[in-house]
Amino acid sequence: MEKRVYQVWKGSNIFILGGRLIFGPDGRTLLVTLSLIIVPVIVFCIFVARHLRHEFSSHNAGYAILVVAIVFTVYVLVLLLLTSARDPGIIPRNAHPPEEVIQYESSLSVEIGGRQTPTVQFPRTKDVMVNGISVKVKYCDTCMHYRPPRCSHCSICNNCVERFDHHCPWVGQCIGVRNYRYFFMFVSSSALLCIYVFAISAFYIKVLMDDQGTVWKAMKKSPASIILMTYCFISLWFVGGLSGFHLYLMGTNQTTYENFRYKSDDRINVHDRGCFSNFLEVFCTEIKPSKNNFRAFVHEVQKPTLPVTRETDLEDTSMDRRAKVEDVLDIGEDLLKISQRRAIEELEEDIRNRGSIGPPHNTSEVDSYIGIRSDLRAPTIRSEACHSSWDRSGNGDIGTEVP
Ligand SMILES: [Zn+2]
Ligand SMILES: [Zn+2]
Repeated sequence: MEKRVYQVWKGSNIFILGGRLIFGPDGRTLLVTLSLIIVPVIVFCIFVARHLRHEFSSHNAGYAILVVAIVFTVYVLVLLLLTSARDPGIIPRNAHPPEEVIQYESSLSVEIGGRQTPTVQFPRTKDVMVNGISVKVKYCDTCMHYRPPRCSHCSICNNCVERFDHHCPWVGQCIGVRNYRYFFMFVSSSALLCIYVFAISAFYIKVLMDDQGTVWKAMKKSPASIILMTYCFISLWFVGGLSGFHLYLMGTNQTTYENFRYKSDDRINVHDRGCFSNFLEVFCTEIKPSKNNFRAFVHEVQKPTLPVTRETDLEDTSMDRRAKVEDVLDIGEDLLKISQRRAIEELEEDIRNRGSIGPPHNTSEVDSYIGIRSDLRAPTIRSEACHSSWDRSGNGDIGTEVP
């Protein structure tokens, strides 16, 4: 059966409803967040708002308290879902390093006589212009691309996310270009909900106080009001403070990541276009469509990058196996260089453990190398390709003698 993109997804995301909804690997904490909102609101409706229904001369005003609480809670929950369950702006991984990296590598290979040396590296950074100012962008080894400005690789979700703000454990999702607006609206609306519940609970205590005489008697009559007021007061420090912080970030056009990362080194904020325009950018620009179609079938998305002949070649195992193995090794070569930085120590140890002479090659092994071709994207497989290459030649010279 054909697999869909979300079924072979390399990031650590959790998908539900057949890939229609995407969460971070900690998406389950969303249930905790949901209950932190829903439970107090239920307590509020039953123990506070219900008793205030007939408190006003016009009956409708009393009911309005209940209706507003419910409608506003639903609104907050919708915002939470819009933040949490959608693609935050993931940049799809490349199946192989970009053309410019391969070209750079091969030109260097010629210069040094076609031999690979582990010290050769393609540029790890690249300069791009943002608003007329040159900024450096980094290469992502996992996703095999140069990250666009403001993009960062989320270590929790294991994806590159555009305009990466932070990974929010409360919503169990990255906050990026596609959900930042909803995230802010969620946090600030939660703060308003806290204020509302606090104010109405306090009002109810006041009503009881007029009735009972003293504030102590009133508090004894409705302990739920006191619990809700305490809960909202504490929560408001958190969500209110967070809203304030993000208002400042939006006004200055920074992400949380940039604010924490670049605070000390006094650099110019190339994205700042003036407070008003910065707010317009967050709230009034169209949200870009997702770059991922999680429900697409895999062959539509990935296979075009792989020449079909390589797979059909596999059928004749004896004739040009060597050619194919070398072909695969070429790819291993590209990959080797890219993952060298972190793999060299590992490789040396591996050679020590396994000895310098690799096992004899058989068809199934060739199969597994071709398997690498069709799935070059996972970092684990890339290092496996390196091991194999080293095993084969014993000294790191790739594509030399294949037994
Ligand atoms: Zn990445
Ligand atoms: Zn994340």
